[in-house]
Amino acid sequence: MISRVIDEKAIDRIRELLTRSERVVITCHLTPDGDAIGSSLGLLHTLSAIGKNVSIVTPDMVPKSLLFLPGAKEAVAYTRHEEFATRLLNEADLIFCLDFNEPRRVDRLEPALLGTKAPKVLIDHHLHPGDFADVIISHPEASSTSMLVFRMLCRLELFDRIDRQAAECIFTGMMTDTGNFSYNSNEPDLYIVIAELLKKGIDKDRLYQRACNTFSESSLRLNGYALSEKMELLTDHRCSLITLDADELQRFSYEKGDTEGLVNKPLAMPEIIWSVYLREDPGQIKVSMRSKGSFPVNEVCKQVFGGGGHLNAAGAEFKGSLTDCIATLREAMPRFDQYLPKPRLSRQS
Ligand code: MN
Repeated sequence: MISRVIDEKAIDRIRELLTRSERVVITCHLTPDGDAIGSSLGLLHTLSAIGKNVSIVTPDMVPKSLLFLPGAKEAVAYTRHEEFATRLLNEADLIFCLDFNEPRRVDRLEPALLGTKAPKVLIDHHLHPGDFADVIISHPEASSTSMLVFRMLCRLELFDRIDRQAAECIFTGMMTDTGNFSYNSNEPDLYIVIAELLKKGIDKDRLYQRACNTFSESSLRLNGYALSEKMELLTDHRCSLITLDADELQRFSYEKGDTEGLVNKPLAMPEIIWSVYLREDPGQIKVSMRSKGSFPVNEVCKQVFGGGGHLNAAGAEFKGSLTDCIATLREAMPRFDQYLPKPRLSRQS
């Protein structure tokens, strides 16, 4: 059995809310990733199985790479269907907010979300949850929200209602948020849950292939170009910086998701402790950071760009030119040298 993580009072409260709810809406953060969509769909399938009328409302489109997940195509994107999304929220008896800590993470959906009367349940693993929800299940130590959703479903005695489709979605969230179980993945419970999901009939190898290892030719070439031509090593700060401007992205027919995972690549070098990827999107620069050990990229993102995230994976948006963004980052860099691991004494000294 897996350990009990979620507070009993929260479980009781959710059980009670579910009993008196017919229409349930699930929402997640902007530019949803595998965990946001996986946890949402896993919950959708399971609650549908007990007769609830469940919809998913996303702030923007589900990325193409995740559309293979059962039910993903039915998610209602606010950017596409503003009125319908708002109506679903207004008519809901219960709203689950998955994989985000603060309402601003749903971007333009925020007023509609906060404007609803329905009770809200937050399930998340980012630091510092806001207090906009009625029930808060926040576990920053959890490797994914999908894992937390699985835990919650078990505690609600709905384990038997998790079918193969729900299991596929939950597994995909667990897998993508841990880089296919290559970081944040030392918790023994993870592997007990995977075994249970396998027993539900998921094809783990196929899910890996679809969610983590499917690229177009142009995106493979773009990633190759980024590593070969655009990766700069700032050895004094043990940092790697990759930047891609709009012209470069266009040259490789960039589509959303094409450089997913690129920011992790430089961490393969033992001398590199943190990695930054800056991408020129329309109207803003997308900042992504990853790190090893105790180097806090969430602090860098927060202090330099007003963003946030996890200790080892964080992001932000910079309103301004790519050149200004690079200059801002470079200027701030020395401030974070204090977090670098202390050099070990070499044998010669
Ligand atoms: Mn997540």
